[in-house]
Amino acid sequence: MSAARRQSHTLGRICQFLLAAAMLFSFNTAHSSEAAVDPVDKGVDVLEDSTPDGDSRSSETSAAAEELVQPEAVREYMGPLADAVTHADGWAKPLKILGTEVGPGTSQRLSWSATELFEGVPVSTPVLVANGVLPGPTVCLTAAVHGDELNGIEMVRRIFHDIEPKKLAGALIGVPIVNVQGFRRGSRYLPDRRDLNRYFPGNPNGSAAARIAHALFTDIISNCDALVDLHTGSFERANLPQLRADLRNPDVVTLTHGFGAMVVLHSASTVGTLRYAATRAGIPAVTVEAGGPSQLELAEVKHGVKGVETLLTTLGMTRRTRLWGNPEPVYYESSWVRADNGGILLSDVSLGSSVRKGDLLGSITDPMSNARTEVRSPYSGRIIGMARNQVVMPGFAAFHVGIQTDEVKVIEEDTIIDVAEKDAGGGYVDGMSE
Ligand SMILES: [Zn+2]
Repeated sequence: MSAARRQSHTLGRICQFLLAAAMLFSFNTAHSSEAAVDPVDKGVDVLEDSTPDGDSRSSETSAAAEELVQPEAVREYMGPLADAVTHADGWAKPLKILGTEVGPGTSQRLSWSATELFEGVPVSTPVLVANGVLPGPTVCLTAAVHGDELNGIEMVRRIFHDIEPKKLAGALIGVPIVNVQGFRRGSRYLPDRRDLNRYFPGNPNGSAAARIAHALFTDIISNCDALVDLHTGSFERANLPQLRADLRNPDVVTLTHGFGAMVVLHSASTVGTLRYAATRAGIPAVTVEAGGPSQLELAEVKHGVKGVETLLTTLGMTRRTRLWGNPEPVYYESSWVRADNGGILLSDVSLGSSVRKGDLLGSITDPMSNARTEVRSPYSGRIIGMARNQVVMPGFAAFHVGIQTDEVKVIEEDTIIDVAEKDAGGGYVDGMSE
């Protein structure tokens, strides 16, 4: 066989393989979509996850029709978050949570379960509590609301390992694995294919997701003065470490300032997310997005830990000699660039890359015809999220381009738009990220 023949033979084999892979992929997609429920979901549960491997790529159950409890103020307003420590006087009180009192200057590992028995078997998850010796705000950290998002779990572990309650003002509450059932199955979803992060603040008489959401919100979140919900990208996409925050809320803006040099993406939160429900209940909340699902990424973990530890210092809860870099965060508006063709997506940029309008972001090659199309950026900005190299379908959101803006402009524009209308759209793209 000549070299050229051998090469074309090899290419043929590769194409055969890719064709088989593409068929398998489309079969999986078609098969798993059977598990999805009609968007007009009247609250009927999907009893079985028919996805053979728990692949979280398949469709999710719609939350649209479920009646959720309206988020109400759960905490007495303590004044601007920034003044929480300076205005607090005296000594810290015991922190009452989950039927336990955590004394000032101590920490405890507690256990929380959404329902007493789930499927007849107790499902509990750890809750870490550090109550400082001095009074101050209670900051909560939640991770793995999506069970396949692992980076946040490690962030919570590292942050708590570094905390000394005897030197802490205020309290820190951490739930490293909120969606313990999804976590065990390596899935973003609950076993009934519901996305827990569309059901907050929940409903005690609703679906399994609404009940779990309600229990978490009542038992734990209602104790918080501020909330940081830790996430990663989803469906084989990774995010540059960033904060998602509704910059129309001044207390949320204060929170974003606390994170040091972390990138901030303004986003009005989607109805049903933990961030949405907490903020509506008077608990300013931000989402940290760092990296992608199903992996532990050390650089992203360290970035998130540094951001949260900087926050604790700027809120006056901990003392550190070194603050993190430029205290002014960088604000972004953003837009997703989608694939117009199906095929094999290979990127030419990486997370954090600066791009100009017209720059090549990546290419999509049809495995059968070998036809290659280029994906070019319609904007000048920075890559703040992107798909890992993979087989994509037309319409797949592939590159998230952040467009730098200034804080003032973001807030002025948004006050014009009706809040409810904006929330309904919520910048929701394919169920990804938070
Ligand atoms: Zn998530």
